[in-house]
Amino acid sequence: MQEFLSAIRSDAAGEEIAALPLPDTYRAAYVRRDEIAMFDGLESSDKDPRKSLHVGDIAVPELAPDEAYVAVMASAINFNTVWTSIFEPLPTFGFLDRLGKESSWGARHALDYHVVGSDAAGVVLRTGSAVRNWKPGDKVTVHCNYVDDQSPSAHDDSILADNQRIWGFETNFGGLADLAVVKANQLMPKPRHLTWEEAAANALCNSTSYRMLVSDNGAHMQQGDKVLVWGASGGLGAYAVQYVLNGGGTPVGVVSSPEKVGLLHELGVEAVIDRKASNYRFWKDEHTQDESEWRRLGKEIRGLVGDDVDIVFEHPGRQTMGASVFAAKRGGTIMTCAATSGYMIEYDNRHLWMKLKTIKGSHFANYREAWDANQLVCEGKILPALSAVYSLEDVGDAAYQVHQNLHEGKIGVLCLAPEEGLGIDDPGFRSEVGEDRITLFRRHGA
Ligand code: NAP
Repeated sequence: MQEFLSAIRSDAAGEEIAALPLPDTYRAAYVRRDEIAMFDGLESSDKDPRKSLHVGDIAVPELAPDEAYVAVMASAINFNTVWTSIFEPLPTFGFLDRLGKESSWGARHALDYHVVGSDAAGVVLRTGSAVRNWKPGDKVTVHCNYVDDQSPSAHDDSILADNQRIWGFETNFGGLADLAVVKANQLMPKPRHLTWEEAAANALCNSTSYRMLVSDNGAHMQQGDKVLVWGASGGLGAYAVQYVLNGGGTPVGVVSSPEKVGLLHELGVEAVIDRKASNYRFWKDEHTQDESEWRRLGKEIRGLVGDDVDIVFEHPGRQTMGASVFAAKRGGTIMTCAATSGYMIEYDNRHLWMKLKTIKGSHFANYREAWDANQLVCEGKILPALSAVYSLEDVGDAAYQVHQNLHEGKIGVLCLAPEEGLGIDDPGFRSEVGEDRITLFRRHGA
């Protein structure tokens, strides 16, 4: 891969990149099938990604006609890599085995190691015979909606496809590696004003937040809407609050430290709740919620923005869902895409039906939505939330930070890129957008 790296760094032409020989193996981060029981009996928080994520050489798989090899310059940690590395709620090898039964190309994925990672920025090295829109040398970011477009179910809204998968979580050969295998319909142009690691940090969380708030498939956010965003300086939340601000709404961000409050203020979010300082305890014990705590949250929100919220951007799950359903205004929408603190949810249904509220599920984004969200990054209207950068060798430490909620925004991972700061093709536009704005999370995380 070093020859590819040299070619990329010297801005070699696509033909030159296409003529370089592919290696037989490449460096990748993976979990092992024979280790799926290694954390049995431990609490979730004690399951340590540093023990289960390995970095080593694996064989380069064959390329299907609709795929591309991408030299991954940088990737990022997503919570799904945490789930894979702690084998919760299920070991991801079951996903690979199911894909393996689907077709001969799918069979490549059912291996005894799972290369993880659902974000990447890099350069196309080769394309399969059916790929039309991309060629070697193209600088790209990768979104993670992995869809077989021969299924009719994929053609209204591809995230609804019956065999839709998340690349690098439900498929093998993900982005935390020096090379990735992706379908051509996962490729998007790399924002020219960003470094490799800034470009790699966005696609998964940015596209998910876009669908939840901006797309017709989400909450139909309107100008003036007030939106409660849990984890507002985390991966999803950092993009969600930007969409609310861009769309003429008022975000109410919830975070858990004064540093995060300061970060959000700098980003332009005025109404911020520090859930630790306010000491919210929505559950009295494991089985009983405390409605007076929901009311206290509602009061704090009204104190900040003068009204209840139109939309709740929900993902913590069990710990917060009761409060989220309560806090949405009459006719409001609770958009949910996750359940970090537990997926068996409890809320008071009377608050839902009597006040005509809607709970709406959402999952990643279709290609159109991911493309439009990426376009907003390209135009400098959405800023990368990159707060820290690790090397691929230290991917376990990076995942550990996210698992323990020690991070802000996104953690980037350098794969082929030997150092931070490379890959900017349009420094003029970077200055126009503003170095300080682009590096806001990085400066806070440093
Ligand atoms: P993240 O970077 O860890 O951010 C999550 C934030 O949630 C944290 O920063 C934390 O903020 C807050 N939080 C955590 N536990 C909480 C609790 N018990 N109560 C209130 N707030 C809590 O993770 P992420 O990338 O945003 O992902 C969040 C979840 O969404 C994960 O479960 C992930 O798997 C899922 N996800 C789903 C999709 C999808 O397409 N369905 C896409 C992306 C992510 P504070 O401590 O500052 O409050």
